[in-house]
Parts: sequence; C-alpha cells; structure tokens
Amino acid sequence: MNKDYSLLSSSPYGNTFTLELAKLAIPSEQLGQSGNTDFLAVSLSSTDYVGHQFGPNSIELEDTYLRLDKDIEDFFNYLDKTIGKGNYLFFLTADHGVTHVPDFSKENKLPSGGLAPKKFKTELDSLILEKFKVKKAIFTLMNNQVIFDTDAIKEVNADYAKIKEFCIDYLIKQEGILNAVDIKNLNNTSIPQEIKTKIINGYNARRSGDIYIILDSGWYPSLSTGTGHGAWNPYDSHIPSLFMGWGIKPGKTNKQYYMTDIAPTISALLHIQEPSGSVGHVITELIK
Ligand SMILES: [Zn+2]
Repeated sequence: MNKDYSLLSSSPYGNTFTLELAKLAIPSEQLGQSGNTDFLAVSLSSTDYVGHQFGPNSIELEDTYLRLDKDIEDFFNYLDKTIGKGNYLFFLTADHGVTHVPDFSKENKLPSGGLAPKKFKTELDSLILEKFKVKKAIFTLMNNQVIFDTDAIKEVNADYAKIKEFCIDYLIKQEGILNAVDIKNLNNTSIPQEIKTKIINGYNARRSGDIYIILDSGWYPSLSTGTGHGAWNPYDSHIPSLFMGWGIKPGKTNKQYYMTDIAPTISALLHIQEPSGSVGHVITELIK
C-alpha cells in the first residue's frame, strides 16, 4: 500500500500486467461460457505513455513493442487453450499514432515546435480590448481551439463575427500555424475535405470552441516535453486495424478504413443492430 505505481504505466510492464488481468477476467467472469457473445475490451496504454514521452524512433518504444508482441502471443496461447482457436474474434486498433518529439526533429533538421497559447490569449485579449472594447473576449485557447466568452462580447454589443475574423487573421500570421478556421462555417473554408471531415468529427455543438487552429507539420499545441494529440497528419491519425479468428477471412488491404468502421463490422458479424451513434461502414472484405 501507499506505493507509487505511476512508473508502471510508462514501462512495457504496464501492458504485461494489463494482459495478465485480462486473462484472469476470462475464468472469473466465465467469459465465453453462457452461449451468448461476451466482449472483453483491453486497453494496452503503455504504448501511448512511452510513445508520448520518448517518441516513435526511441529505443524505449521499440523495446515496448517487442515485449508487447511477446505478451500478445502469450495471450493468444491462453485464449486458444481456454476458449479454443476459431472460437474467438480478436480485433486490435489504436486511438492515434505519435509525432516525433521536438528534440528528435531538431536533431534531424525537421521543422518542429510548440505553440504558446497563453501568449496568444494575452495578446489577443489586449488587441480586442483596444479595437472592440471587450474585456477578456477569449475564454480560453486550448486543444487547438479558441473559445470566446460570448457573454462578455454581448455585454458591450460588440460584433462577434468581426472579432472572430480578427482573431483568425492574427493566428494565421503566427509561426507553426498552417491555418485557422471558423469551426461553424467550415463549408466556406478552403481546406481539403479530409481535414474538414476530421474537424467536424471532433466537433461538439455544446463543448467545442469557435476557431480551430491547424498546425504546421511537426508542431504541437503547446510547448512541453514529449509529444501531443490531435494532429490530422498521417503520423498521428494513421492507426492499425487487425482482425483475426472467428468469421474473419484472411487477407490485407491498403484501402482506407476508419476506427468508426469497427463497430458496424463487429455488429454485422454478430447479426445485431449497430450502436445508436454509429457512423461507420461495414468492412465487407474481411467477412467470411
Ligand atoms: Zn495519446
């Protein structure tokens, strides 16, 4: 008790322990015993912790994946023994890839850097005060988004659209920013459809901000050690998709699929309705 286990998550053994726990869940919860389909979700997050801290080209991440490969082999052997080969369907994916850490990029003469959102907020707040007479018009600038304090803008009857335009002009001039776009008016923005779709997919009408900042390649939303999330670029958005076992036709493809295709594909294999929020498509090629 009272031991600090936090280091475990950023070592390969975080995955080892997680898979040991997953193994235990099978007899303890009598998975695969009732005649109905059981679903066991395992989150092997140490790859993420190690990736964020050390970057994709680090010896630490290489070590993590070599050990994970062995741990997954051991897990499959256990499933073959307990559930039986061909009696389980396995799928593996990820939430994101990983960007090079800034120091690695610099060493290899690749463009890289981190934004200074606090500095942008301070500068923009004082410029907006001067020009539009709004005190603290920006609620926050985080996760590549500018969120306005619309009450503060309304209070002095300032022009929200003009303030937004003013901020976009300011942001586009900053180093590390490829573009800044009006989230609620993406259709009138000249950016590739693929990036537009990604911004829309991450948009929540109640929680999202007003302006979305698209970073230059290799740049991060803030200045910190390690690497971040949320880039549209392939190094962060290209993720693995592996299916194996029950109902799966062996093969491979380089065609583009999305993580949202997993739920409808599993539903099709099980002959059940897709989840209520499902927006993906069935990957028909992999169904036997
Ligand atoms: Zn992550």
